[in-house]
Amino acid sequence: MSTPTKIMLDEREMPTRWYNLAPDLPVPPPPPLHPGTHQPAVAEDFAAIFPRALIAQEMSTERYIDIPGAVLDVYRLWRPSPLFRAHRLEKLLDTPARIYYKYEGVSPAGSHKPNTAVPQVWYNAQEGVRRLTTETGAGQWGSSLAFACAQFGLSCDIWQVAASYRAKPYRRTMMEIWGGRVYSSPSEITTFGRELLAANPDHPGSLGIAISEAVMEAAADPHARYTLGSVLNHVLLHQSIIGEETLLQLAKIGERPDVIVACTGGGSNFGGLTFPFLREKLAGRLNPVIRAVEPAACPSLTKGEYRYDFGDTAGLTPLMKMHTLGHRFIPEPIHAGGLRYHGMAPLVSHVYELGLIEAIAIPQSECFAGAVQFARSEGIVPAPEPSHAIAAAIREALACRESGESRVILTALCGHGHLDLAAYEKYLGGEMVDIELPESAIAEAMRSVPEVA
Ligand SMILES: *Cc1c(COP(=O)(O)O)cnc(C)c1O
Repeated sequence: MSTPTKIMLDEREMPTRWYNLAPDLPVPPPPPLHPGTHQPAVAEDFAAIFPRALIAQEMSTERYIDIPGAVLDVYRLWRPSPLFRAHRLEKLLDTPARIYYKYEGVSPAGSHKPNTAVPQVWYNAQEGVRRLTTETGAGQWGSSLAFACAQFGLSCDIWQVAASYRAKPYRRTMMEIWGGRVYSSPSEITTFGRELLAANPDHPGSLGIAISEAVMEAAADPHARYTLGSVLNHVLLHQSIIGEETLLQLAKIGERPDVIVACTGGGSNFGGLTFPFLREKLAGRLNPVIRAVEPAACPSLTKGEYRYDFGDTAGLTPLMKMHTLGHRFIPEPIHAGGLRYHGMAPLVSHVYELGLIEAIAIPQSECFAGAVQFARSEGIVPAPEPSHAIAAAIREALACRESGESRVILTALCGHGHLDLAAYEKYLGGEMVDIELPESAIAEAMRSVPEVA
């Protein structure tokens, strides 16, 4: 075996700053707009729900931002994370490709989400905030935030999308172990939740609805702020540590990726892994193809429109220019709960629009087939979300088998699936169905998207 199985960094080699892609782009990303006036949003527009430091990062034009020492201390519980060479998967696929995966499942919550939960909680704590609210889809973000709140002594209220609240009771227990309070969304707590429940007591919920509920609660309490686990610039900034570490790891073994694939829900693990590589590409030092992989049942990049839309269902947030299926779009309850979001990170949308990245959508049964092949060869049971990235990596590896090319494929295994076994049970029992998304459902939801001149 030419390269080691596990490429590690020493704790002292861990990057100490985050990377902000925005200032390196040939065209600056369109700004968020005030929902009432449609003028570019100013810091004040976010002040009721975010602390000043994070608003500054959201709008920052600095290329690098130092990671606070207290955040680095918590990162060291699991970082630097390992980069694996998938020797056994390569063998199973009989491919000349070399496949690498950066594994974020080693964090306490089992995914990449603590990379941003920890700094978000720390900056809030610095500004005297005592309580944080948030939404969670699959429960990954909620558990990451609960873990981070436990580190810094803040209280934590989490609205969990009803479909996952029912399907994933152990995620809820995990959030409660770390001291979080968890509500099924739509909930009886907010006026918006009560309205939706009155219309449909079995409402499956959506990330957009849960965001609305968490924002309403934070805005009503002066000691509370809201947190978002994906989509926003500051979240992608914090996740850049994934790609920065990976660059160092690949440099250690003298490898350069030809293609990078990562799954996209709101775009944070994708941006986290790929933006440092995009910096290298824009500077002419590397030239990988960078490809986002989304679920066929919620294809915001490949089927959505690039328009200003709300981040939440009730329409409370500033308008963001992004690929959207419409903020009223309720995705089918597929198993990759973390990918059920109507929009896409504005930065990811922008680089897609600029032609700097590609995007594809894959149906869930192909993803689970890939995840099972991966588990049987590499051992790790992937979360349903990165199974999309694995399926794309496998497609690429099989194309190499056809062409005989030994390309270097890099992907993000952004979480393990130990709390997603019910989904695997369905797959193994032959009960998993692929949900065709009718164009009419998108057209319907797009009607709610505001017209912006
Ligand atoms: C939340 C989550 C996702 C989706 O969010 P992104 O912001 O697109 O990364 C994907 N995978 C896992 C494991 C998650 O927890």
